[in-house]
Amino acid sequence: MAGKRDYYDVLGVSREASQDEIKKAYRKMALKYHPDVHPDKEEAEARFKEINEAYEVLSDSQKRATYDRFGHSAFDPSQGPGGFGGGGFDFGMGGFEDIFDMFFGGGDRGRSRGPTRGADREMELSIDLEDAVFGAEKEIQIPRMEECDTCEGSGAQPGTEVKRCSTCGGTGQVRSVQSTPFGRFETVRTCGKCSGQGTVIEKPCKQCNGSGQVRRVRKVSLKIPAGVDTGSRLRMQGEGGPGQLGGPPGDLYIYIRVNPHPIFKRQGYELTCEVPISFVDAALGAEITVPTLDGEHKITIPEGTQTGTVFKVRGKGVPHLRSRRRGDQNVVVKVAVPTRLSARQKQLLREFAREESEEQNDNDNPKKDKGFFDKFKDALGG
Ligand SMILES: [Zn+2]
Ligand SMILES: [Zn+2]
Repeated sequence: MAGKRDYYDVLGVSREASQDEIKKAYRKMALKYHPDVHPDKEEAEARFKEINEAYEVLSDSQKRATYDRFGHSAFDPSQGPGGFGGGGFDFGMGGFEDIFDMFFGGGDRGRSRGPTRGADREMELSIDLEDAVFGAEKEIQIPRMEECDTCEGSGAQPGTEVKRCSTCGGTGQVRSVQSTPFGRFETVRTCGKCSGQGTVIEKPCKQCNGSGQVRRVRKVSLKIPAGVDTGSRLRMQGEGGPGQLGGPPGDLYIYIRVNPHPIFKRQGYELTCEVPISFVDAALGAEITVPTLDGEHKITIPEGTQTGTVFKVRGKGVPHLRSRRRGDQNVVVKVAVPTRLSARQKQLLREFAREESEEQNDNDNPKKDKGFFDKFKDALGG
């Protein structure tokens, strides 16, 4: 077909290009001329069609061999059957997104080729319960690699250039072809001169030794919202790994761990603490002072309070992350039995005990509750 451009020229590859090089070149061109993104739609469509046609032939080793021998005429439909219809969009290439994914997506392949978002990082931060309940602002130190200021990330000493690797022509791979009686064998290996980067730095930047990145510790202020718990995840946008070739940095995720508190145990939005009370207060009732994270708080316990009784202090627990409403605090009273009694106290207790047993033995009063030991005897049939 007259006026048709050479397929190798269309993709910008040499006649000796490997399949991998052809594939890479195709992606690059397809991305550049995809009609969805190119400003000149008409030109883009023509070029895109041409690129696809060239790739369809050159990516198929049989078709490529035929093309190498006979040129375009081998594929001209006017030359009769045997050729294939003039190319076009019919070979299963998806939209721009697909090419973009192929191009920039996941694997390492995309990394040296275009803008890449930096990696997300994670770190753990231990905080005290008070900070989890009331919220806090913490300065945290983030060790991370940043783009070298001296060379702006290129790795080359300022004033010198990053050159395309002459050994591999910038592809990062070296091909060697061996002809044997059984056919041509092709091996592809990573270029040793540029370590597969495709570029060579002649004078490495002294600041970063040519890596383009320097290690820094960044101090950033982290706002911890009230209500976080162990396992809560906070995101700091842009504080992750650096992007490459103009890509945005990743994010930093901070996992909260709340240190155990000497007094309070947390269950969701509730806090629980144990408070010892004297057996006299438990028996007679009293107003007692209990600790809360907001300071001391007074509660009234009724007479006859048993050990283990739970009293609720409203609104002294943990705030809900969204609503700000605070949970409650549970106060578990523990009746403390005195260990050191004066002679007088002992005597009073003995009198108290005597009076109590007389009351329980008073069978003339049926309304009186039976004591624990009487119930016990009843149960044994005694
Ligand atoms: Zn540098
Ligand atoms: Zn190389």
